Amino acid sequence: SKEQGRNRFHYFTASMQEAAQTKMHLINDLRSALANEEFQLHYQPIIELATGTVQKAEALLRWKHPLRGMISPLEFIPVAEETGLIIDIGNWVFHEAARQTQRWRQQHQPGFQLSVNTSPLQLRADTNSLERWRRSLKSVGLPGNALAIEITESLLMDASFAKRLVAIHAMGVEVSLDDFGTGYSSMSYLKKFDIDYLKIDKSFVANLRPGSSDLAICEAVIVMAHKLGIMVIAEGIETLEQQNLLRAMGCDFGQGYLFSHPVPAAIFEQLFEARSKP
Ligand code: C2E
Ligand code: CA
Ligand code: CA
Ligand code: CA
Repeated sequence: SKEQGRNRFHYFTASMQEAAQTKMHLINDLRSALANEEFQLHYQPIIELATGTVQKAEALLRWKHPLRGMISPLEFIPVAEETGLIIDIGNWVFHEAARQTQRWRQQHQPGFQLSVNTSPLQLRADTNSLERWRRSLKSVGLPGNALAIEITESLLMDASFAKRLVAIHAMGVEVSLDDFGTGYSSMSYLKKFDIDYLKIDKSFVANLRPGSSDLAICEAVIVMAHKLGIMVIAEGIETLEQQNLLRAMGCDFGQGYLFSHPVPAAIFEQLFEARSKP
């Protein structure tokens, strides 16, 4: 009826208003989060599958909101991107990652490498990010190859990225192609861009079974990457079977809950002892 329709309409606008308000609050709180030191990095080990040792880790951003507690990056990264706050946040992530890596290289493992997620916006617009990163590396006293940045396929479609990639490699920083297979993957990008690592998306790892199509896809990706001189990291490994299948196919590195969830720095340090090179 007309009555119902009107009610539904009221209900709809009310919830829309609520959503808009929630987002406004989020934006306001996000603006002050950096200054209030509410961000922290968690670390998830990246395991060399042939030896089972920790060679690398991925830094994952966490926001500890004073009232709401931990907020997922899936919720606040898109808002940070919309508002442009992602640039300052991304630069903070890079600097913090550099600082932590320098400490762990000195105290635990000289060859340790940390990878950081990078929003396409950070490397697209006329931001000063590369210069900021160069300064971070210098002030911390860290060689560029101690860090890798994780980018997504969308960035490879950007005409100006080729130039930035050269500048990134000139700093020594390595580049990892994240979520491989989920975007607009095109083999031609792999030919055109000098990528160091390719991360097989967890959606291909989740249903890995002998004879499965995902197994065929993973195997083909690994063979192709290796022929192109690219190393492969499989993400989202949760079971021993997945680990064993990937190792048997020659996948170089693995990451997932089977080894560890992303954890705070103090907890991550214990992994160096538990999973160190013989
Ligand atoms: P991502 O880069 O694909 O990161 C992997 C996500 O998978 C992480 O979620 C991680 O906790 C989760 N994960 C790890 N192992 C497993 C597993 O075995 N099974 C399953 N199901 N999931 C696993 P998280 O930490 O919630 O991060 C979500 C996304 O937020 C990231 O996806 C990344 O796109 C973004 N993000 C996180 N930190 C940053 C950052 O510092 N900067 C930017 N720009 N984006 C970030
Ligand atoms: Ca990532
Ligand atoms: Ca990923
Ligand atoms: Ca290469």
